[in-house]
Amino acid sequence: MFCERLHQARRASGLSLRKLAEQVSVSAMMLSKYERGESMPSSGVLLELSDALGVRAEYFFRTVNINLERVEHRNKHRWKLSKLAETKVLADVRDQLERWHELDELLPAPWSVQFSLPHDLPDSITTLDEIETVAVQVRQHWKLGLNPIPDLMDTLEARGVKVFTTRFDDPRFEGMSARTGKHHVVVVGRMWSGDRQRFTLAHELGHLVLDDRIADDLDKEEAADRFAGAFLVPAVMVVETLGTRRRSLEIYELYLLKQEFGLSIGAWTYRALDNGVIAKATHSAIWRMLVGKGWDKAEPGDQYPPETPRLFEQTVYRALGEDWISESKAAELLSISVRELVTHRRMERVDGDSCQ
Ligand SMILES: [Zn+2]
Repeated sequence: MFCERLHQARRASGLSLRKLAEQVSVSAMMLSKYERGESMPSSGVLLELSDALGVRAEYFFRTVNINLERVEHRNKHRWKLSKLAETKVLADVRDQLERWHELDELLPAPWSVQFSLPHDLPDSITTLDEIETVAVQVRQHWKLGLNPIPDLMDTLEARGVKVFTTRFDDPRFEGMSARTGKHHVVVVGRMWSGDRQRFTLAHELGHLVLDDRIADDLDKEEAADRFAGAFLVPAVMVVETLGTRRRSLEIYELYLLKQEFGLSIGAWTYRALDNGVIAKATHSAIWRMLVGKGWDKAEPGDQYPPETPRLFEQTVYRALGEDWISESKAAELLSISVRELVTHRRMERVDGDSCQ
């Protein structure tokens, strides 16, 4: 329905009726009529609306409507996201999911891999330590072995998880996960460093894996954090790389491991503590030092590079190559102009300097 789509796009942009009216040639009252389904804009106004709201005109007529169930916010405890920012993020995610859905429908056979978990996961998890095994079970089910995961976004996408970065990069937004019917979705803020993104992604995956199984007296956030650490660096690897028992840990040693595993120095100290490699007092001493140098907020040395989800774009170009979709449909799905799409197709701007 056009009216709902307009309302959605306006909420996603964060514009009030009045603010939107300032950018188009109709009044706020008329906009409100459009949103109530009492009137329809002319094609000229429609173009103005799509410009002002940053969507393509086709967006208003897309028929799928995705409901996000079970939304879990990574920032629930530590970060306060305003209602408006939350609405923006959710609308953005819904838009990206709808585009996936539409692409799937245009393909002769669905390419999306079905998300699946091992059948033998415990129904009820009562201690955090049990999560170590769960993380390894998931890794084995997904044939990931125990080694570092070079590109986590790619890995998750190839296992049927829908991975999105959100264009609303509010520094308070770290990530969220959601389920909608058959889709399992994880979202991460685009502005974070790679190690932070990877931890957030693994944490959100933790929610998808654990939330139905966690005993009431366990904290879901702590459980998801433990899963994240165990998924990125399984217990066996912690012991193999650090040793079974240590008096202390060298920061430069953890820095090297961070580059190898994509897990932050801070998170490594927790892996060491949780697996009995260092004592609680040692861990506290390391953290006092990290906080003292401000390294709990910004870690020293080179940042671990951020990742980008690629599967959607890649699938669009694959469909284009097979002539299953037109250039204008491809451009619409990618939210770029046809001209930009043609430029990409011809590899005329491989640096991608002005495009995101
Ligand atoms: Zn969480």
